[in-house]
Amino acid sequence: MSDSNPSIADRIASIREELPPEVTLVAVSKTKPNTSIQDAMEADQLDFGENRVQELQEKEAALPKSIRWHQIGHLQTNKVKAIVPFVHLIHAVDSERLLVEIDRRAKNHGRTVDALLQVHIAQEDMKFGWQAPDLTRFIEGNALAGLEHVRIRGLMGMATFTPDHQQVAREFKELRLLYESLLDSNPSWDTLSMGMSGDWRIAIDEGSTMIRVGSSIFGGR
Ligand SMILES: *Cc1c(COP(=O)(O)O)cnc(C)c1O
Repeated sequence: MSDSNPSIADRIASIREELPPEVTLVAVSKTKPNTSIQDAMEADQLDFGENRVQELQEKEAALPKSIRWHQIGHLQTNKVKAIVPFVHLIHAVDSERLLVEIDRRAKNHGRTVDALLQVHIAQEDMKFGWQAPDLTRFIEGNALAGLEHVRIRGLMGMATFTPDHQQVAREFKELRLLYESLLDSNPSWDTLSMGMSGDWRIAIDEGSTMIRVGSSIFGGR
């Protein structure tokens, strides 16, 4: 791009140019003002990601209803109720307890909520998520069968924050292989959420279908 200071809409357009058609771009607007989200909407962006429930609620109330809100960060059980009425996709489900709570609240609300199971793929231990063997056991144990108001659409993960391209690629590949191994028993899955500002190109090469990009669009936080 020749413009030395591209607009938010320009940045979105240039990321989209690089995306295969089946990949969804979630613009991560956490900490950014509503005006920045409106700027992004100029580029027909409708998928936005937030990681704090209160901020998500405030933005949802103030902005157009056409927006598809993604809860991308760690979600506490006691916050589920607040987002269930409107959330489009919950990315970071990391326990059975959380899943059961989403199911219960969604049922009360007369809707079915889409969600992704977060897998721990990074070497850093502060990141949340299932360990792959635990997740496989959980799913093969048919634990999802009784949950009629939460619909699992696939998996989400975050790679280690490192300049080591090969390590990041390895972690994303591990997640994709896990996703594929579980597809046999979950044929309705269609979403593999992986890739952020620093690593989305690697994630796409490794089979991502959904990237979550914040600072490359909206600037640093
Ligand atoms: C903040 C955040 C992102 C976006 O991070 P950037 O590096 O700014 O693109 C993606 N996913 C999750 C879970 C996040 O919390």
